[in-house]
Amino acid sequence: MYVKNAKIMDNMKKKLITIGIIFIFFTVIFSGCNETTQNSDENVNEDINTENSDLFYCKKVIIRDDDIGSGLYLPSVKWIAGLAVSNDFKITLSVIPTTLVNSLETINYLNQLDQDTFEFATHGYEHIKFGGLPYDEQYTLIKNGTEVLEEYLQYKPFTFVPPYGASDTNTTKVLSDLGYHSITDMRASPCYVEDFVSDFAYETAWDPVKHCSFEEFKSSFDTFYSSSDEYYIIFLHDWTFLNEDKNLNETKTDVFEEVINYIKSKNAQFMTIEEAYRRQTDENIIETGLINENNYFIDLGECTYNHTIKISPPSSWEGDIYLIDEATGQETILDKEKIEFKGTKGHYFNIRHIL
Ligand SMILES: [Zn+2]
Repeated sequence: MYVKNAKIMDNMKKKLITIGIIFIFFTVIFSGCNETTQNSDENVNEDINTENSDLFYCKKVIIRDDDIGSGLYLPSVKWIAGLAVSNDFKITLSVIPTTLVNSLETINYLNQLDQDTFEFATHGYEHIKFGGLPYDEQYTLIKNGTEVLEEYLQYKPFTFVPPYGASDTNTTKVLSDLGYHSITDMRASPCYVEDFVSDFAYETAWDPVKHCSFEEFKSSFDTFYSSSDEYYIIFLHDWTFLNEDKNLNETKTDVFEEVINYIKSKNAQFMTIEEAYRRQTDENIIETGLINENNYFIDLGECTYNHTIKISPPSSWEGDIYLIDEATGQETILDKEKIEFKGTKGHYFNIRHIL
């Protein structure tokens, strides 16, 4: 983090340490489990020492919905996509190309989705294991899959989600050669693209399908939240909210809504995998910091990509919060419930607190 005023930073650190001590105190009081308490304490200390000295820091959450393609499961996809639009979160939809081509209904539905909110990832060609196949065979399959997404969805995919999580170094070589940026859950090395390893499987069993409870999710998310990790990836499947008769199961959708509401209550930023890739590419180039007590800057001057920026301002900022784009002079009042804006690469932004 870029620091312009050492005195302010000293005060911030003191405040943070005080908040940390209060947090540890309450963790000890309220936790029923000694082991959990100890882990949380370690994590809190780590936060104070690392990136969370930036009071504007936000956790990032990625939701990945796999196996998209079949018209049979479309009610589940439509439901989660509708929720993403109404509740303002993003999803990476990973599409099985050979399944997609057989469902005009799915093709039509995916085509009218907003590509800022939904990323399409390639989920194989057929739903087979890629790891272990020769380079040439993987190249042909992934190229074919890519062409399906380009032709049917008018979309150039940058993320590959290997079916069954089965990939190898050749898979990543092919991806790099075909212009992909990212893969998920690649465990071998070397890896020639960015690897996004998932944190939480929303389904606990597939046949019949079972899910984690809200409490199990909360416990996993809380551990992430108090750790120094920045990204949390949840994955689930297109059929996950359906009954056997392929109708929506409202008990299941209710729990998932609770999950989303909880993430939102923590002011985390939702991202697609491609967005996360772009952010990570520019991570060390984006400069941020407090200019003084009421002014915070975000400098995207050297960035390769545009970025959606979400911030968590200090609670002492009780007045209006202005966003000033210094490149255009444009001033906007930010919605305090959702301090998020689209930051253009090359621009310098000032976030100003006015009482
Ligand atoms: Zn799959």
